[in-house]
Amino acid sequence: MNCIDTPMTEKIMNDFGIKTLAINEPLIFEQGSAGRTAFSLPEETIDLGKIDGSLPDDLIRDSIDCLPEISEVELIRHFTRMSQWNYGVDTGFYPLGSCTMKYNPKLNEEAASLPGFARSHPYQPESLSQGSMRLLWELEQYLCEIAGMDRCTLQPAAGAHGELCAMMMMRAKLAEKKSPRHKVLIPDTAHGTNPASVAMCGFKAVPLKSNREGIIDIDSVKSLMDEDVVAIMATNPNTLGLFEKNIVAVSDIVHKKGGYVYCDGANMNALMGKVKVGELGVDLVHLNLHKTFSTPHGGGGPGAGPLLVKQSLAPYLPVPVVEKNNERFVFNYDLPQSIGKLKSFYGNFLICVRAYTYILSMGAEGLRKASETAVVNANYIRSKLKKYYHLPYDDSCMHECVFTDKKQKQHGVSTLDIAKRLIDHGFHPPTVYFPLVVDGALMIEPTETESKESIDRFINAMINIAKEAKENPEELKRSPQKSKITRVDEVTAARNPILKWCTSK
Ligand SMILES: *Cc1c(COP(=O)(O)O)cnc(C)c1O
Repeated sequence: MNCIDTPMTEKIMNDFGIKTLAINEPLIFEQGSAGRTAFSLPEETIDLGKIDGSLPDDLIRDSIDCLPEISEVELIRHFTRMSQWNYGVDTGFYPLGSCTMKYNPKLNEEAASLPGFARSHPYQPESLSQGSMRLLWELEQYLCEIAGMDRCTLQPAAGAHGELCAMMMMRAKLAEKKSPRHKVLIPDTAHGTNPASVAMCGFKAVPLKSNREGIIDIDSVKSLMDEDVVAIMATNPNTLGLFEKNIVAVSDIVHKKGGYVYCDGANMNALMGKVKVGELGVDLVHLNLHKTFSTPHGGGGPGAGPLLVKQSLAPYLPVPVVEKNNERFVFNYDLPQSIGKLKSFYGNFLICVRAYTYILSMGAEGLRKASETAVVNANYIRSKLKKYYHLPYDDSCMHECVFTDKKQKQHGVSTLDIAKRLIDHGFHPPTVYFPLVVDGALMIEPTETESKESIDRFINAMINIAKEAKENPEELKRSPQKSKITRVDEVTAARNPILKWCTSK
């Protein structure tokens, strides 16, 4: 077929399709041969006798079994080839709901690699760290402005770490008052980290049922709220992509009984420049720099989940906090009520540099537009796909929309099959089977950084899959077929993991 005759989306689909040279990569242990090495070091100069004396006998080995023996070029090719199997926001559309996999502008990397930031040492004296401290202080001001809060700690390394920090601060305040409060109300749509953070602080997570609209039910809050409740932990917008429109009324009920309102602000990508959660009665909120503020996702650690609080809780923040005295910045460790240190030094500093760069390069208007576009994109997908997929809460959404596999189930096709088939179409699957309140959920978050063309390609793929589910479900259930690894037996992989590979040569 002539290129020009091909409909645009189909042509682009073909151009973007997975047609790569698939190299079968053996394990590193299966490559090389005995005695081959990837490096050369000078002759041994350490007196091994001394080492022997300082270590217990059972920790000393005569030899190491099963280390790979390969050359440098084999080593480099092995890892380089595997690095190319990776799929990330730099390779394609990544609609993982609740995770905000937006593109991370390379300008952020440029700023974070400036030697003044990258080579500064956390033990450098304050007089030589004024620029970095100013950045931390200004980032705090910007985040507080965006969320409508008073003070902030940049120490938490992830969203869950921010939640934990909040729980520890509330626990410290309660301990001071000798208060026996111990329950935390958590809506059934919450991210799993919420009850985990609560439990880690010795509090009891009390589930709160959502109403028919998919949001917090005021009457449930009224009936569960008592003098034992520490706080309510509400995600806004929630994980159904819906704005918690009762939040002000809920805050009132909670405050009247002496509780706190915690907002899980991981989904702030829908609200920047639109809503300040601090004005809705929220006392504490964490933000995810690695979601909303375009820093890389850190796989459970090297991200940043700053915690922002109202003034009344500021004395409990982890130390140090950055203060501005006249024109100088200082680290203040003198907070007698502080929960202490949450993380080494000042948090993941270079992640803060990236988020700061993002905020400055976008500007206030740019951030507002980002949120608007994220919401428009999600609603575009919602309205284009609702003919093909069941929409459990058929209302306009915020930054993400949640479908289910109800229509495809009639043909024996499940959310898992749909997600796997998307891989054949060249897309990372969306979040699946979450939130838990939705049976067979497919949670799609396109973010603002995708072009209309890429969103259209995704919509086309989803429509194709819906048609295939009707016409050829058996074939669909064998997906993915075009990827290097096809459908795996996930149960066996989980029950019988092969964690060690050893071949005797
Ligand atoms: C991502 C997320 C979290 C946890 O953040 P991490 O940085 O992964 O610890 C908490 N709540 C919601 C709603 C999230 O989307």
